[in-house]
Amino acid sequence: MTGVADQMTTDVVIVGGGSAGSLLAARLSENPARSVLLIEAGEEPSDPDIWTPAAWPALQGRAFDWDYLTEPQAGTHGRVHHWARGKVIGGSSCLHAMGYMRGHPEDYQAWVGATGDARWSWEALLPVFGAIEGRPDSSGPMPIYMPDEEVSPLTRAFIETGVSLGLPRLPHHNDGRMVGVTPNALNIRDGRRVTVAEAWLTPEVRARKNLCILTGTRARRLVMDGNRVNRIEGVGPQGPIEIVADQIVLCAGALESPALLMRSGIGPRDVLKAASVDCLIDMPGIGRNLQDHLLGAGNLYATRKPLPASRLQHSESMAYMRAGDFTAAGQPEIVVGCGVAPIVSECFDAPEPGTAYSLLFGVTHPTSRGSLRISGPNLGDRLIIDPAYLQTEHDRAMFRSALEAARTIGHADRLAEWRDRELAPGPLGSKAEIDAFIAKAVITHHHPSGTLRMGKDDHAVVDPDLRLKPLDNLHVVDASVIPSLTAGPIHAAVLAIAESFARTVTSDE
Ligand SMILES: Cc1cc2nc3c(=O)[nH]c(=O)nc-3n(C[C@H](O)[C@H](O)[C@H](O)COP(=O)(O)OP(=O)(O)OC[C@H]3O[C@@H](n4cnc5c(N)ncnc54)[C@H](O)[C@@H]3O)c2cc1C
Repeated sequence: MTGVADQMTTDVVIVGGGSAGSLLAARLSENPARSVLLIEAGEEPSDPDIWTPAAWPALQGRAFDWDYLTEPQAGTHGRVHHWARGKVIGGSSCLHAMGYMRGHPEDYQAWVGATGDARWSWEALLPVFGAIEGRPDSSGPMPIYMPDEEVSPLTRAFIETGVSLGLPRLPHHNDGRMVGVTPNALNIRDGRRVTVAEAWLTPEVRARKNLCILTGTRARRLVMDGNRVNRIEGVGPQGPIEIVADQIVLCAGALESPALLMRSGIGPRDVLKAASVDCLIDMPGIGRNLQDHLLGAGNLYATRKPLPASRLQHSESMAYMRAGDFTAAGQPEIVVGCGVAPIVSECFDAPEPGTAYSLLFGVTHPTSRGSLRISGPNLGDRLIIDPAYLQTEHDRAMFRSALEAARTIGHADRLAEWRDRELAPGPLGSKAEIDAFIAKAVITHHHPSGTLRMGKDDHAVVDPDLRLKPLDNLHVVDASVIPSLTAGPIHAAVLAIAESFARTVTSDE
């Protein structure tokens, strides 16, 4: 790597030091012959609350959260939703809720269907997950911790209730049988969060001479020459910088990776025109296919006895299931989560901690698809984020089913020792009343993805190798490329995408 303060030359530049980017910087710099430059808009993490698992909700809105706002959502009572995203080395793994779930094999079969490439199948990804995960039988860098005695007594009762209704008691969520109930596996070691940066960018890795990490440095625009990106213009702590690289890997996340492409003139012609950006490559798929999971936060129960605070991260167990049948097997359709706290959306008043708990409810494979656009050519121009929440009847029907499942669990005999009464929603009559309650209750589950989806069809943005289709030296490796959501939280899938990409790059070495 060569360079003066404002210009650098490198073999590979990774834009964004978040979950995918941190892993990739470590993996690609294993070869000392390859120079790797990682640029990250944020700084190194320093807020001590990052490492306190129970503090994770309080991290939102702090200086290392991009704190995006969605457009008002017709499907969620006209609300604007805050979308947290990490602006820090480690990215959103510094803010996330630490739940680790690979997903269901059929989730990945859908990726094979989208790409025509068996590398994205569950079976092909098994060794990839194995290389990521640190468990008693696997020595990957990311600890996968199965809590036992720390699990709340409420969560234990929730799990037993699920079993009494017919759900299988799973050992964990990660062996392919997601339908069932179990405590959540967590990225925690010795009671502390482990970020992706800590797991992969260890002091030994950071000491490599061929790896350079620039914090406080934001890519503004890619400059192209024919079908190659020949430099990146950015802004660093000392002002403008320029980076010349053989290979560019975008790891800026599902919002900023498409935004960077659009600011560079690559995107849907109409969107670029409205944002006063000259369209150099018209790609209608960029910024489309935005997906997110929602969780209903409003099915609330008053306790009969004081509820001890969660010793983990509040949402201790997720029960995945088919809609309408606790005993059916297959790919999950809905989820009910045990919130060891009165977790509610901003439409409801939360009772005092210790006096109430929430049964969260959600849909695993929503069919609503939103979009992301830039509003102007500059870094400061806001992103126009429209997740189009609850726009399909599929999603609304599944949400009704998820609420019903949550209330069936909530009112079951096995939970009587904890339940005094249901505080919300209370009696609901018509379908319209149920939908109105759900629209007020849903909050983001923090899984935006899909905005630069991989696929074999004409509108897909990256190919199965994650290469931006019209360019030779630009790959996208982050949550943007996910064609369709996995059933659960998506961090494991994002790490698998990064590790799988690293394997492809390093396989000939
Ligand atoms: C509050 C919250 C809770 C969550 N809970 C869970 C959970 O429990 N389990 C789970 O599986 N998933 C969870 N997730 C989701 C998961 O954390 C994300 O899907 C994942 O971290 C995304 O990884 P990424 O690499 O795509 O993006 P990120 O990790 O967001 O990384 C993108 C990085 O790029 C940087 N960047 C952006 N633009 C530029 C630019 N132009 N130049 C330079 N750098 C740039 C950003 O600052 C950031 O560091 C949660 C997320 C949040 C926010």
